[in-house]
Amino acid sequence: MRRLWWLLMLLLFMSAAWAVERPVPVAVSVPPQASLVQAIGGDRVSVQSMVSPGQSTHTFAPSPRQLRAMEDAQLYVKVGHPEYRFEHQFMQVLEGRGDRVVVIDSAEGVALRELEGHHHDHGHAHGHRHDHDHGDTDPHLWVSPSIMRNVAVRVAEALAALDPEGEAHYRQGLEDFLGALDTVDAELRDTLSGLQRRTFLVNHPAWGYFADDYDLRQMSIEVDGKEPTPAQLGRFIERARAKEVRLILVQPGFSRRSADVIARELDIDVVEMDPMAEDWLGNLRRMGAVLREALS
Ligand SMILES: [Zn+2]
Repeated sequence: MRRLWWLLMLLLFMSAAWAVERPVPVAVSVPPQASLVQAIGGDRVSVQSMVSPGQSTHTFAPSPRQLRAMEDAQLYVKVGHPEYRFEHQFMQVLEGRGDRVVVIDSAEGVALRELEGHHHDHGHAHGHRHDHDHGDTDPHLWVSPSIMRNVAVRVAEALAALDPEGEAHYRQGLEDFLGALDTVDAELRDTLSGLQRRTFLVNHPAWGYFADDYDLRQMSIEVDGKEPTPAQLGRFIERARAKEVRLILVQPGFSRRSADVIARELDIDVVEMDPMAEDWLGNLRRMGAVLREALS
């Protein structure tokens, strides 16, 4: 009996210690959001990205293991675009739990931009694309420093609310992150403002919010999420030629067949850039270097 009592005390003690030292479980939709949360939370958080680098958010379906991870999350940072159906699934899991969980929607307060390569008149020959909530707006919100800045502030607030003992830690983490972000942003403004050419091609239109932040333009080779037809491709090459485009960015996980055709036709470079890369700030820096190299 006495032994049982000790065992019980030990268990109680262990669970209390675990509760104190256990990092705040955070789930995010895409890897760049994970790097933001990690930078702010450090060792007080354990972050899990649902979609991996190089994967497509458009075809992603959560595994049972990921749905279970969502059962555990205290904070979920979602992209917040209706196109990403997997986020609805995660929201259902969270809503079914009934305990405390904070959800940060990256799209809150953002004026969604129109997506390039999206036809408004894709009538009834391809009518199947009309009946889902793809929308005409751009879901790739995380490539914008201005949008992510706002998300960072909300993440730090949420973490401090969930883990009040860590408040100073999160405040410092936020300050450091915003400092690094402002440095990269200033470098990008400096690098990109003087470029003669301001248009680049993409196999998948994921860089729109970045382009908007720096007064650049992306032209999407993909049409409504598909490879262009030969006729569309021919017209596209003529448009790109007229604009004297000099760079094609290809995203892993999406076909680069048409991109290679265009590159041969116009004799320009194809560079692989993954907007889903884990090292978000490092990737933006690299984007700046690639654009400067090709467009100046
Ligand atoms: Zn996409």
